[in-house]
Amino acid sequence: MMVPGAPHGELRADHAAPPPEGLDSAEAARRLANDGPNSLPDAGGRRWRRIALDAAREPMYLLLVGAAAVYLVLGEPLEGAFLFGMVVLMLCLTLYQEGRTERALQALRVLGAPTALVWRDGRRQRLPASVLVEGDLVELGEGDRVPADGLLLAAAGMLVDESLLTGESLPVGKQEAPQGAPPSAPGGPDLPWVYAGTLVVQGHGMARVSATGARSEIGRIGAALGRIAPPRGRLQRETAALARRFAILGGIVSVLLVALLVARGSAPLQALLAGIALSMSMLPEEFPVILTVFPALGAWRLARSQVLTRRLAAIEILGSTSVLCVDKTGTLTENRMAVARLWRDGAVHEAAQQGELLACALRASRPPGSDPMEAAIWRLAGVALADGGAVPAGWRLLREYGLTPQRPALVQLWDCGDGSVLVAVKGAPETVAAMCHAGPRGEALEAAAGMAADGLRVLAVARARVSSLAAPWPADPAGFAPELLGLVALADPLRADIPDAVAACRAAGLRIVMITGDHPGTARAIGRQAGLAGAEDGQGGVLGGAEIATLDDDALAGRLAHAAICARIAPQQKLRIVQALQRDGAVVAMTGDGVNDAPALRAADVGVAMGLRGTDVAREAAELTLLDDRFASLVEAIAAGRRIFANMRKSMCFVMAMHVPIAGMALLPVLLGWPVMLYPLHIVFLELVIDPACSLAFENEPPEPDLMRRGPRAPGEALFGRAAALDALLQGGWVLALVVALYGWGLSWLPEPQARAAAFAALVLCSLSLLLSNRQRHGLMRTLRAANPVFWTIAGAAIALLAVAIHVPAAAEVLLLAPPAPAALAGSIAVALLALCGLELRKRLAARPRRTNLAI
Ligand code: ADP
Ligand code: MG
Repeated sequence: MMVPGAPHGELRADHAAPPPEGLDSAEAARRLANDGPNSLPDAGGRRWRRIALDAAREPMYLLLVGAAAVYLVLGEPLEGAFLFGMVVLMLCLTLYQEGRTERALQALRVLGAPTALVWRDGRRQRLPASVLVEGDLVELGEGDRVPADGLLLAAAGMLVDESLLTGESLPVGKQEAPQGAPPSAPGGPDLPWVYAGTLVVQGHGMARVSATGARSEIGRIGAALGRIAPPRGRLQRETAALARRFAILGGIVSVLLVALLVARGSAPLQALLAGIALSMSMLPEEFPVILTVFPALGAWRLARSQVLTRRLAAIEILGSTSVLCVDKTGTLTENRMAVARLWRDGAVHEAAQQGELLACALRASRPPGSDPMEAAIWRLAGVALADGGAVPAGWRLLREYGLTPQRPALVQLWDCGDGSVLVAVKGAPETVAAMCHAGPRGEALEAAAGMAADGLRVLAVARARVSSLAAPWPADPAGFAPELLGLVALADPLRADIPDAVAACRAAGLRIVMITGDHPGTARAIGRQAGLAGAEDGQGGVLGGAEIATLDDDALAGRLAHAAICARIAPQQKLRIVQALQRDGAVVAMTGDGVNDAPALRAADVGVAMGLRGTDVAREAAELTLLDDRFASLVEAIAAGRRIFANMRKSMCFVMAMHVPIAGMALLPVLLGWPVMLYPLHIVFLELVIDPACSLAFENEPPEPDLMRRGPRAPGEALFGRAAALDALLQGGWVLALVVALYGWGLSWLPEPQARAAAFAALVLCSLSLLLSNRQRHGLMRTLRAANPVFWTIAGAAIALLAVAIHVPAAAEVLLLAPPAPAALAGSIAVALLALCGLELRKRLAARPRRTNLAI
């Protein structure tokens, strides 16, 4: 059995072999129709019954049903029916929101569904794992989840983690199948079978699918694999607790109110209605809605800018992220390499003149696959070498020593067919120079440093010739005592959008730390091109992997406070870097793609996997996946995270503020001995405005222009802390004072229904004032310039509904309203405008002394 870190085993598949055929797509389609998709039975998409049940358990609906029953007992079926109609309308709104949320999550699931590299029609294609059928040829690489059960036709150094099936945590080795191997159960080393759901932790291979979907081993167990969890985090629990407390408080106050009314001689059922209205007005049932709708729709918005969210809680954390740890290769750079220079015997040469060096580099490269560095060497060989780089006739690959963190070099052993074996080496110059016993080592290292300073990725090439009788081969390829031949320098240009994205991060108070396995010189040059802070410094800005190994955690945290670049880092060291940054109080986002990156991705506050380059392991460990691997997408995601958080907070502030005048108007008139103003019907009406406002209008609110010019939110800062709550209560109190005054004034000279109509109109219009004022932190003029069509739709609908409620006799009668005298109506409008002025004034005052108070 093989152990992790052991050199790769023999690779029998010949480089020159014709590509495998696989199934043709017509046959695959036939089998797919026959056998069904390669997926495990789902628990079912939308469950209307569940949604209806959930809704029925909501205290809000229980109260509504209670109120409708009271109306029926009172012998007022019209009111009861009206209330029922409102309930249906609210239920529709809820279903609409849930539907949007569910659709957003479903879209994410589809995007995040696993894929597989399949050979079909003689072509290698990436397909959704669900379309695999028996007989398909799939390629398996390091970090892949095996998409279906299969028999290995080729395997090189494959280690598979089968703990999911066997409970055994040590990975097991795999071997390609001898002809006609019998089936066997999972577990045990060196078998030719791979199983769906298990994880390739090392090596690569090719398998023929033998069972899919429910017929696979895991399907028979019926285990389900990583799905998107519903948004139930700390926030949700805290808010649910808050909502419960409010509900209990509301219940108690309402009972007292009913008792008071009855004691004053009101009819008991009328008193009960007023009590129910008060309970309803104090229910903050919008809070949980906000917490579900915003992250889900936010994740959907992120997906449109190529960022896939696996854990919805990450969206909230994005807003407080303060340090971004990013890979250099492929994230900051294009990962499209081209050989730029060849160095040999102290001078830079043309490719055509350096056939020997190039051919040796080529023999130390795998056939062109996913690695762009190897692809670049093959491409150059194709044009610069007479034979195009083909493997000479009679040559056979004997063995490969793979890249390891300790030895970033690739070594291949070739049987040349004449009794001799070629050892071809290519890798990091320091590593190769240390392996070599001959050749211009010191000179090569100097030249490598010079080329690295130009931003090139430099590889040293070396070779040795041994007798084929010298087997068994040494465990360490340094044992071959190779001779250093020269250097190959590759250019990997910076992505064009990086300097802007980096500048945006700086403006937003985000620190960037570049992490790379590459040479410090290359890293510094790329860092300088990207505009990273600290890339200009002398040695101070660059921290090497070797140095990190000598530092303790405190010293590392101290060094990282200044370093912008970490070079020659082994993947395992990423975890220490994340933890050291976190010790310093940073909220860390970390990008990664490999199997070894998984612990760091998990430890980071926001793990970010690469969609194109990344392995399944990295994707599963990460919170986010960048589908296009672009760093700029990550910066956009952070902006989106900040915006979502800000909008959630604004929405909660609005909801809290609006409940003050509603609850106040349900309670105060009674305490003052005035006629009851709000009955359940009125509350439902108001909810019809507030509900879509809080979830849809605020969700749509565009970001404030300076959103990415502020520092990140403090990590511990609550979504809705004491200061925010106080601010909301203040806003609500101001509105309440105005509306109470208007109602009192109206009662003094108007009949009750007219006074109620004026006060009710004021309440509805004031809710729009609160909505408008809370949309942006900036003044009214700038708020009006920020486009939010949903706001205007809601405002228009609210005013239209209000007009119907007051002026259509049937509706007005049910709502106990009458068209108010023009002066009273003018009073309502004045109150709403006055409310708006007061709210705007408060913003201005709050903005002056302590900006951070209301800032996100
Ligand atoms: P990065 O963080 O830039 O992606 P890697 O960790 O992939 O860097 O690689 C680190 C070093 O390992 C490279 O600078 C190079 O010297 C060496 N290396 C990587 N891939 C290969 C390869 N296919 N063949 C030889 N050497 C390699
Ligand atoms: Mg790499």
